[in-house]
Amino acid sequence: MTNLISKAVVLSVFVSFSMMKSQSIKEILNQNGSFRKDTIFSIKSESKETYLPVTIVKGKEKGPVFTIVAGIHGYEYPPIIAVQELLKEIQPENIKGSLIIIPIANVESFQKRTPFINPLDQKNLNTAFPGLSNGTPTDQIAHLITKEIIPNSTIFLDIHGGDASEDLLPFVCYYNRKDAAENTKKAHELSIKSRIKYVVSYPYTLKSTDQSKYAFKEATQQGITALSIEAGKLGTVQKENVDLIKTAIYNMLEHSGNYIMRKSKAVTKKATVLLNQQDYIRVPENGIFYSNLKSGDKVKKNQILGYITDEFGNKKQDIVSQTDGIILYKVGTPPVNKGETLFCIGYNEL
Ligand SMILES: [Zn+2]
Repeated sequence: MTNLISKAVVLSVFVSFSMMKSQSIKEILNQNGSFRKDTIFSIKSESKETYLPVTIVKGKEKGPVFTIVAGIHGYEYPPIIAVQELLKEIQPENIKGSLIIIPIANVESFQKRTPFINPLDQKNLNTAFPGLSNGTPTDQIAHLITKEIIPNSTIFLDIHGGDASEDLLPFVCYYNRKDAAENTKKAHELSIKSRIKYVVSYPYTLKSTDQSKYAFKEATQQGITALSIEAGKLGTVQKENVDLIKTAIYNMLEHSGNYIMRKSKAVTKKATVLLNQQDYIRVPENGIFYSNLKSGDKVKKNQILGYITDEFGNKKQDIVSQTDGIILYKVGTPPVNKGETLFCIGYNEL
């Protein structure tokens, strides 16, 4: 606890320093030599202040720029802790090209323990892209990532997990953008090379003028090879998910040619399972949710997945699956609110 407080004081000094002199990501990437640089982008909106921490690791040899983002949701801990371990382990001499690492994109959500949203403006950073230069803190973080980080990236990896209330099966995912076949193929290959068992592809129907909403969808829209890892759940740090994320990142970095001098380890020995369709079951009404199922369970069409009661314990309705598939994520805690995603069922359609 004391540690956290003293860290916050040190960081605030950095914030005021960087306001005097801030270097763009491009300027840092263009500097000569091999180095690691930790930098802070300060964000000011009316009376609210926050910051975006960014680490750049540049290797000796030329190569792609691989961006790794954690903590867009600050209550999703395994991605954040996996990136903390990477920051300790990765040395510039083992890097080809460069890495841009955002260890915690939403520091207010992390420090204040706030699921989904930034407590400064109550906005969800993951639906704020492309953001706004003169908007609220969340809009400005999204704008910084959109303008400073994504255009300087060759590959963009955004890491999430189940938030405080979400039970989630680890998977790696990308958008199946048919009019950018080369990028889609690269994202698919990186997903396979991560050796995470479940590989999910989402349909992509975004027009160039549509709001991208999500960070890795923004990168996909900008024509960058983009993907996301989802691992971890229910607001705790599970060592197996931290290890899974870290190993998957090392496997991807080796495949992209960004990392040398390491023998990759398998995340899983089992064959990859591709899931190219998703069925989202929404919460039909507010109440208390019960289910004996967990993420990773297989379900059948018409199977009862759980039920919702009122505060008096009266059953209001059953939740029924519309498809055969596997539970990618579900609400894992009792309260449910109308319209939220209650289950995401993944399946494959050839
Ligand atoms: Zn998330």
